[in-house]
Amino acid sequence: MTTGWVTHERYYWHDTGTAGGPLPVSRWVEPMEHIENPRAKRRFANLVAASGLLPHLTPIEPRHATVEELTRVHDPAYVEYVEARADAGGGNLGGGTPFGEFSYDIARLSAGGVLAAVESVVGGRTTNAYALVRPPGHHATPAHGRGFCLFNNVAIAAGHARATLGIDRIAIVDWDVHHGNGTQDTFWDDPSVLAISIHQDGAYPPRSGPVTDIGGPGAEGTTINVPLPPGSGDGAYRAAFDQVVIPAINRFEPGLILVASGFDANGFDPLARQMLHSESYREMARRVLDAADRHCDGRLVLAHEGGYSPFAVPFCGLAVLEQLSGVRTEVVDPYLPIVENYDGRLRPHQAEAVTAAAAVVPRVPR
Ligand code: ZN
Repeated sequence: MTTGWVTHERYYWHDTGTAGGPLPVSRWVEPMEHIENPRAKRRFANLVAASGLLPHLTPIEPRHATVEELTRVHDPAYVEYVEARADAGGGNLGGGTPFGEFSYDIARLSAGGVLAAVESVVGGRTTNAYALVRPPGHHATPAHGRGFCLFNNVAIAAGHARATLGIDRIAIVDWDVHHGNGTQDTFWDDPSVLAISIHQDGAYPPRSGPVTDIGGPGAEGTTINVPLPPGSGDGAYRAAFDQVVIPAINRFEPGLILVASGFDANGFDPLARQMLHSESYREMARRVLDAADRHCDGRLVLAHEGGYSPFAVPFCGLAVLEQLSGVRTEVVDPYLPIVENYDGRLRPHQAEAVTAAAAVVPRVPR
């Protein structure tokens, strides 16, 4: 078993400038580093190196996604707009997604990192892969960037796998704490892509991702949303995997599984109110690995999305990579006891939310 590892120094140079956390600076908001900044991701890469895990991973060199690859998902006019704005010195999509002069280039390298990971896994050079890319992608719809996302990396990778790599059915599991609205929009009418998003109910985008969204005509049951109440922890996520994510994948029998891997459901994240810890992420990775072994010869690619706690993300990410690679380092997550102390057992109102989402599973096309 070999695990591919994608990252690139350029990813950390995508410049989101100053802001007031997630919002633009305004009259009474003192400028600080934008919340979507390189720190959590860079510290994840650094912990992978410091832990001794890096030599056990197979490096995969990212490439730039071509315009043809981007426009399998995105409107050509949108791609041209991002390029033109970047060339003019930078811009801001939807008011909350600033980008710099070189961000068109870096966003293409981000999408291309996931493409390279998928090519490596489908081509059999690695069993599975993790792409630590930036900027993230899952909020970007075909015609609009938002939520710190320029191009939808996972959707572009799914389009590529289907168009050129001979994969007919693809399952996307989005465990970022925010709704994978861009991925849902992209594949709304497409019965060949099963898009499952587990997210904090209504967190972002506002009112996005209700359980009643199940896909367009002819694609019913290929969109599944699991909106969990704030305060959900390990128990709610395990229930969501037991009752929704894994049964849906088992019905769909994909040829490839992609994960939109955000770490912002961890108990320290400033942009959400969930209570996962590194062992929760290790367990979710174990379950998608098992599903990939069962249905698609282990073909599994994870693409990094959000996660805004610079100290917690590295340990959650390392746990996932340890699980993917089967190599356990000597690293102990010092933050684990704190979040475990929050007591993330499944509560009745959370169980209800999972049960509501589970009702969609029988509609997943076989
Ligand atoms: Zn997120």
